[in-house]
Amino acid sequence: KRTLVVVGLASCLAMTGTSGLAAAPQAKPAIPTIVVLATGGTIAGAAATDTQAGYTSGQVGVDQLLAAVPQAKKLANMRGEQISNIGSQDMNDEVWLKLAKRVNELVAMPDVAGVVITHGTDTIEETAYFLNLVVKSKKPVVLTASMRPSTALSADGPLNFFNAVAVAANQDAVGRGVLVVINDWIHGASSLTKTSTTAVQTFMSPLRGLIGTVAYGVAEFYRGPVGKHTFESEFSLDGVTSLPRVDIIMAHENMDGALIDAAAAAGARGVVVAGVGNGNLTAPAVKALAAQATKGVVCVRSTRVATGLVGRNVELDDDKLGFVASMGLNPQKSRVLLRLALLKTKDAKEIQRYFIQY
Ligand code: GLU
Repeated sequence: KRTLVVVGLASCLAMTGTSGLAAAPQAKPAIPTIVVLATGGTIAGAAATDTQAGYTSGQVGVDQLLAAVPQAKKLANMRGEQISNIGSQDMNDEVWLKLAKRVNELVAMPDVAGVVITHGTDTIEETAYFLNLVVKSKKPVVLTASMRPSTALSADGPLNFFNAVAVAANQDAVGRGVLVVINDWIHGASSLTKTSTTAVQTFMSPLRGLIGTVAYGVAEFYRGPVGKHTFESEFSLDGVTSLPRVDIIMAHENMDGALIDAAAAAGARGVVVAGVGNGNLTAPAVKALAAQATKGVVCVRSTRVATGLVGRNVELDDDKLGFVASMGLNPQKSRVLLRLALLKTKDAKEIQRYFIQY
């Protein structure tokens, strides 16, 4: 593993220095260059005391963040840039487009081995999946976050950051798409989801499984991510200055079509339904959704259930109604894929292919 090689080389050089060969140059072991892009979130959050629940995201700048984890300097040469400093509940298209553009610029630089992005946990799964579809590189792009603010008792941010740098600097991470490293686990962007509002062990990859684990910087990779990504993605932001509107509507008992119609009236070019069970919804809601589909609004059936596929033509006839089934993507990730898909086409069959392949 790369870290072990670095340590081994360093101790060899130290031994040479004490063996009488005083003239031998003290060559520094080569370590990769990682650029850290900070966007905010609890990892940059601060509270007035170390035990209070209330805090403000995005209080700590990228330089403070880097200074707080000096151990990471042994793994990589690092430089930081501040993209934004917001709680990720405020993540928006302006920041996404800026972030994606900067990541693509950085990974094209020969001296940059990888990128680490710090982010809030609320929407990290959406940003990771967005980048997974629009970053054109095999180089590691690793997002990390924390559940506790930097001022908290047992803050989890520093070790998460250290592990993220270790993964970004690891040759075995190359070609595995955008990764999220948090609480010793390495998740693929298409698989992870936040499952607890407060627990440190909040992220799970319930359907598609973990990519690997990382303990104190030592990573082990089990498998590649599921779905096409990064260098093999058909999606691109070249020339894109805005993304089409797609709304998510949750299904429930006694649902009518009012919110589906309201989304279309507000300018949504696509609607994702967080359906009950296998992407189901009431008969009146199906009617409203099918009517919008005939008007050209792309309608995706996902699920409000935490895990499981939404398949085509199970209880609803997608072929007849013109719907798209989300397959393994939850509603928030379905929305990301649909927005990028709508930049290319509004053909439901072609968009279904994207949902099967990505
Ligand atoms: N609202 C915070 C955010 O997403 C929550 C937790 C966090 O950052 O980790 O930015």
